[in-house]
Amino acid sequence: MIAAFSGQAKPMRVSTAGSGGSDERMFTVISQGLQSGSQRQSGRSYTVSYSRLSATLRQITAGGGQVLSVTPASEASAAPSPAQSAPAKAAAPKASSPKASVTKKPDHSSVPVNLYKPKTPFIGTVTENYSLLGEGAIGRVNHITFDLTGGDPHLHYVEGQSIGIIPDGEDAKGKPHKLRLYSIASTRHGDDMADNTVSLCVRQLQYEKDGETINGVCSTFLCDIEPGAKVKITGPVGKEMLLPEEEDANVIMFATGTGIAPMRTYLRRMFESSEREKNGWNFRGKAWLFMGAPKTPNLLYDDDFNRYESEYPDNFRYTKAISREQQNAKGGRMYIQDRVLENADEIFAMIEDPKTHVYMCGLRGMEPGIDEAMTAAAAAKGIDWSELRPQLKKAERWHVETY
Ligand code: NAP
Repeated sequence: MIAAFSGQAKPMRVSTAGSGGSDERMFTVISQGLQSGSQRQSGRSYTVSYSRLSATLRQITAGGGQVLSVTPASEASAAPSPAQSAPAKAAAPKASSPKASVTKKPDHSSVPVNLYKPKTPFIGTVTENYSLLGEGAIGRVNHITFDLTGGDPHLHYVEGQSIGIIPDGEDAKGKPHKLRLYSIASTRHGDDMADNTVSLCVRQLQYEKDGETINGVCSTFLCDIEPGAKVKITGPVGKEMLLPEEEDANVIMFATGTGIAPMRTYLRRMFESSEREKNGWNFRGKAWLFMGAPKTPNLLYDDDFNRYESEYPDNFRYTKAISREQQNAKGGRMYIQDRVLENADEIFAMIEDPKTHVYMCGLRGMEPGIDEAMTAAAAAKGIDWSELRPQLKKAERWHVETY
């Protein structure tokens, strides 16, 4: 497979060396699950071809089982079966995993946290509130900006953090509403580069209960708010989704819906010309965004991302999963994890590079599919993903904020 970042001096070739190189390479999958009708753990071993590997993993997890290991068939055959050894985890054959190192251990001590708390929130002023959706989109998603001028301390933040909003009014018990956290959608400089605003990307939550449509309290408050209105703001919070400092880092992003918020901050910091001039951070690695939306008019900040892709073809790649317009290989809705599966070998090759960070934000439902795709891609190189992923997490290269 050849990477689609254009203009590379040498196309990136993904090697499957050592594992045979064809789709009929054989793998041994060892799984564990509850035996039907009893509480006894049962271990099973399957030998499948690479082309059947993803489907097999999906079947195991869909049936409530757990995948203990995936290894090239010859390697696994020497290992004891999980049924023979206890505890079952110890049965997983040792697969090699590359050292998940970072070039430099990040120092987060200067990242601001909790400058404003719920009892004494900062009072921000709305400067703009506009729809991010195109004609024919589903639902309501707005971009809302607050002026942060005048606080002591100044309410500041960095890319990847969240702020709290306390909506006006009271709950059913007559108590003030509690705060809701939202991922920040602007860089530390703000959309106007004046260092004194923060923006959010908010979808109005709506659901049916007893035949009635219920509107989310805070999301409706925010989507309806007018410029000039005062809003109680807390935070910032969060160190999970911070960007690496290295300019040559690679950044893979998986976002569904409003989970795009932190990704927009990263991409503005990397590719928006006013940002690059001001922030002194000249990103020169590879960034690859996977974005999931129900329909084309629901794609958020799409024009900006298309522009970055045309201006920086060597550094930015943008892959969309439009669930209600595109179909996956099985004829179902096209989700992020289907796109990950299509590109699994290439993504995994990037992950093997210690400079690569992965960010995931949005619906929790995308996680198992992404794991399955990575398990298969890792297995094709004789690597056990269930061992590698915790290493990536520990090395602060695997960043997840999903709801
Ligand atoms: P949305 O527009 O409802 O959905 C986005 C896309 O995800 C749609 O194409 C949807 O497909 C698809 N999708 C549905 N189920 C999926 C699954 N199991 N796996 C992969 N894709 C799936 O999204 P949204 O309402 O903006 O929601 C985004 C979610 O992210 C919310 O739950 C929100 O709370 C959360 N969020 C989290 C953070 C954070 O953690 N910091 C920040 C922002 C948002 P279909 O609808 O066509 O099935």
